[in-house]
Amino acid sequence: MHYEPTQAFALAMDEADELSRFRQRFYFPRHEGKDVLYFCGNSLGLQPEGVMAALTREVQHWREHGVEGHFRGEMPWMDYHKFLLPQTAHIAGAQEQEVVVMNTLTTNLHLMMVSFYRPNRDRFKIIMEAGAFPSDQYAVESQVRWHGFAPEEAIVEVTPRPGEDTLRTEDILAAIATHGPQTALVMFGGVNYYTGQWYDMAAITEAGHRAGAMVGFDLAHAAGNVPLQLHDWNADFAVWCSYKYLNSGPGGPSGVFVHERHGANPQLLRFAGWWGHDEARRFLMEKGFHPMTGAAGWQLSNAQIFSFAAHKVSLDIFAEATMPALRAKSISLTGYLEYLIQQLHAEGNQFKIITPAEPAERGCQLSILTGPHGRELFNYLSHNGVICDWREPNVIRLAPTPLYNSYRDVYELSVLLRKSPNFVP
Ligand SMILES: *Cc1c(COP(=O)(O)O)cnc(C)c1O
Repeated sequence: MHYEPTQAFALAMDEADELSRFRQRFYFPRHEGKDVLYFCGNSLGLQPEGVMAALTREVQHWREHGVEGHFRGEMPWMDYHKFLLPQTAHIAGAQEQEVVVMNTLTTNLHLMMVSFYRPNRDRFKIIMEAGAFPSDQYAVESQVRWHGFAPEEAIVEVTPRPGEDTLRTEDILAAIATHGPQTALVMFGGVNYYTGQWYDMAAITEAGHRAGAMVGFDLAHAAGNVPLQLHDWNADFAVWCSYKYLNSGPGGPSGVFVHERHGANPQLLRFAGWWGHDEARRFLMEKGFHPMTGAAGWQLSNAQIFSFAAHKVSLDIFAEATMPALRAKSISLTGYLEYLIQQLHAEGNQFKIITPAEPAERGCQLSILTGPHGRELFNYLSHNGVICDWREPNVIRLAPTPLYNSYRDVYELSVLLRKSPNFVP
């Protein structure tokens, strides 16, 4: 891709960008009278236009109809989760019956492990990436203990080679092959929150299955960021949250994928609730759980209408923009940030990008390993109206999201970085 380190180039790219119109549909926080440079969509996505109206509509619906709101109007609450399915299937690369929106992420990770981590004396290990998000580590550790195994023996973490920051696919596959006969579950992130590395999910799934294990993914940093093909990749399950790239607001609901081969099996063990019960019989209030076909059969409770309403506004925007178009811009926009940072690096400063350089191995986030003054650099950026985030010990994460970030944002960030006190020419 051809790039130039000039404002004129950035503006011309924005001009030619067919997705640039989506930017106006998001609310940017302000700093000293102007919009911030927001690079934190990997942590909490910005609020899309229409959220307030969607929430007001449901509050009004409740006020006017009380319990009848479940059955009335264009989007009766009774069926509310179904209004999210086509867009969710698009994000996940799945059939509609393979996805559902419910609960929150870590809760769903536990629910999925209840069904898909069924260890026995011979097969009890879980293979995951070292440095996974802490919630995933705690979830896995507690599941292992719950089944009576010791985390030190049951959890296998794949680590980067000495001197390297990210994992090699061959090392992941080798770990799966080595521990295969004892492995019950391979549970990987899609995109690692710290390094921004996007793992080869198809290869991991295939290797896990060849070893006779189940394979699941936590897609918190992948959903809405990279194009997913969960059905074709043949994953057994996946979970994600909606408040990061999916812009559905703090504590937003979680998405779940269960491959159709499992969704079609009513015998599969699970923790059940009435909303997963055959909907034709849900109100017969009878004994005996009969799960619905598909991921819907894992629902516990009736829909969280207010958070689903906000989620739907954002999902509709993704359906309109489409993941292929977003991905194309994402590769180009993140490539531009990379190019500008490399220019600064060539001029003698101390930024090192630890995110893989290959677009197929990353989404939009770049993780920058900073020099000894990283924390000061981060504070300098904050004082100058940049919202990004700092992860101990010395990484600044920058996520130019294709939905609402511009080439100009990226260019302006590079201007600030060049002027930063830690820049050593
Ligand atoms: C953000 C994130 C979480 C957060 O979990 P919640 O249950 O939504 O609080 C968990 N796992 C990963 C990998 C994450 O990136």
